[in-house]
Amino acid sequence: MIYDITRKVTAALPVWPGDTPFQVTPMLRKAEGASVNLTTLTMTAHLGTHADAYYHYADDGAFIGEMPLEAYIGPARVVTVTKADGPLMPDDVGEVQGAQRLLIHSPVSELGAVWPEQFPYLSVTLIDWLAGQGIRLIGLDSPSVDAFDSTDLPCHHALRRHHLVNLEALDLRAVPDGDYELVALPLCLDGACGSPVRAILRKAVMREA
Ligand SMILES: [Zn+2]
Repeated sequence: MIYDITRKVTAALPVWPGDTPFQVTPMLRKAEGASVNLTTLTMTAHLGTHADAYYHYADDGAFIGEMPLEAYIGPARVVTVTKADGPLMPDDVGEVQGAQRLLIHSPVSELGAVWPEQFPYLSVTLIDWLAGQGIRLIGLDSPSVDAFDSTDLPCHHALRRHHLVNLEALDLRAVPDGDYELVALPLCLDGACGSPVRAILRKAVMREA
């Protein structure tokens, strides 16, 4: 069983205010005699469900194509939080022992393709704690790991400090809490500060002893 936890990319999918929405421009059309349909894509690197590169908030940070791929594949735990706004603390998340990746399901997932007026985000306290528990990736359904109006982005910087990676704008509506295998690979883009991902969860396959 596969859970697709990726937001569907359409021209109407909201992006961060002021950022570049998704657009498909036809360059060639079969209907007009061309041998193929050929489209050009225009979009922000932070389109829908995406991974941030360290370069997004640090000039000397890695581009998305240089981020550690292994962090985006492997065991992941989904936990639901009830907080719809404000910073998340360790108590909000609960037990993470044995998890390597943590995906936080908040009320934002239930909004669907609507920009959330408010959303929960991480805290440096939570990131420090999760890093100490051996977590490598933190995924949110919120559009940012920091508060909407944050300019110093303490949570983004804390992730890099701990060599953690993050996913934003997941859609966890259909996923029961529990342990899964995550696959959410960013594209190998030079110079880019992020990349859309196709994020999926599947139930871990029991291996024969
Ligand atoms: Zn981002």
